[in-house]
Amino acid sequence: QPLGSWSTEDIKDAVSSHVMCTWSPGKAKNSLPIITHANHIYLYDSDGKEYMDWTSQAVCTNAGHSLSPRVTTAIHEQMNNLHFVYGGIAMTEIRARLSSLISELLPGDLVGCLFPSSGSEANEAAIAMARRFTGRPKILSFYRSYHGGTKNSLSATGDYRRHFQQDSSGFVKAFNFTPSFFEHAGEDEAERVQSALLMLEEQIISEGAETIASIVLESIPGSAGVLTMPHAYMQGVRAICDKYSILLHIDEVMCGFGRTGEMWGFQNYPGVLPDIVTSAKGLSASVAPISFVAINEKMMEFFEENPVGWGSTFQGHPVAMAAAYAILTEVLTSNLIGHVKSVAPIFEEHMRHCAEVHPSILNYRSIGLYGALDIATPDGRQPHATHEARTTATTRYFDSFRENGLLGLFRAPIIHIAPPLIINEEEIQEGFARQHRALDVLDEELGF
Ligand code: PLP
Repeated sequence: QPLGSWSTEDIKDAVSSHVMCTWSPGKAKNSLPIITHANHIYLYDSDGKEYMDWTSQAVCTNAGHSLSPRVTTAIHEQMNNLHFVYGGIAMTEIRARLSSLISELLPGDLVGCLFPSSGSEANEAAIAMARRFTGRPKILSFYRSYHGGTKNSLSATGDYRRHFQQDSSGFVKAFNFTPSFFEHAGEDEAERVQSALLMLEEQIISEGAETIASIVLESIPGSAGVLTMPHAYMQGVRAICDKYSILLHIDEVMCGFGRTGEMWGFQNYPGVLPDIVTSAKGLSASVAPISFVAINEKMMEFFEENPVGWGSTFQGHPVAMAAAYAILTEVLTSNLIGHVKSVAPIFEEHMRHCAEVHPSILNYRSIGLYGALDIATPDGRQPHATHEARTTATTRYFDSFRENGLLGLFRAPIIHIAPPLIINEEEIQEGFARQHRALDVLDEELGF
């Protein structure tokens, strides 16, 4: 039977009996829409209902859902010529080309590339490399963070991890610079940044700086709520890394490839150059599962003589690399990142408006096409918790979000908004009109 010949009932039955979910209890699968096809930034379910892709799925369908013939041809050609060789025993032109292109797109001396299949794996490999290169055991990361679902990437993850696993050894967590957390730490931002950096340095000294291989952080923590940081804070983290010979590993899995209006999220912080960069999602705009790790030249020299100590069968998969190369070529030739920059102020204006007109929304943050709204606590204050279980109010909000034709992630008490980067001004307006209708329900449910 060709795909498309099962009835909705057939699909629902099989989902109920055989399919598993990842982060939610399995029965959540039964309420998910069955998506049959997609076009541009819209998806359609088996009842013919249209949804706008309001968080680019998991912040990854950056180029929307209609692939250009250039992309599909490149993928078909790679499949027809050579769909797979194992990267440990054979080299390919596409691997050479994609590595060169990424090295060109990265500033400074960041070069060598690995191409695992997911962001988690990229971070897994990068953590192994940092430990091997420095000979030090510990990884310092931040509480408000998500770095992946595999052993070490989940151990590096902060708040989200607490629901799922005990820590592996060798992971230390620091507090992020968030304005609300440090609001009593000084008169102005400069003083608060100074306090946060002093506390970080104190922690490093107390742990033993010579035991810390790398500091891992997202340039703009995404799942944790698009937590943009002051330039001086990130510059200070770089300076601490230099002082104690600790590698700076910036996780660009969500921000990389233009989400924030810059190719890399760390380019929003002048003068901050990482030693290790990992990215995924936007690399192929989700056309194929692929990520990358890039390292500085010194590390590259080291790994010319030493193995990385991490691997997977599909590292450097030719078809995934062909998809990434074609998508990246499109991103560059269409100046997609210039487009993000040009619509970012309009997007931010809508984000601001949400916080202004809905009493249930206390705050917003926005950069590029990357935004977060904070749902107020029942007594109208800034939420402190992260990744909360849904309440009756937030469940009703999310039902309304879907009923109003939006499909996206929802991690209460934060509402993420991150549409595909190809979205235009009218579509931004339409998306926010739908978002307002769902927020009206939230206002009402929370009794504001
Ligand atoms: N790092 C960051 C910043 C992420 O946002 C994610 C996923 O959302 C990951 C790593 C893990 O990537 P993946 O889900 O592709 O394994």
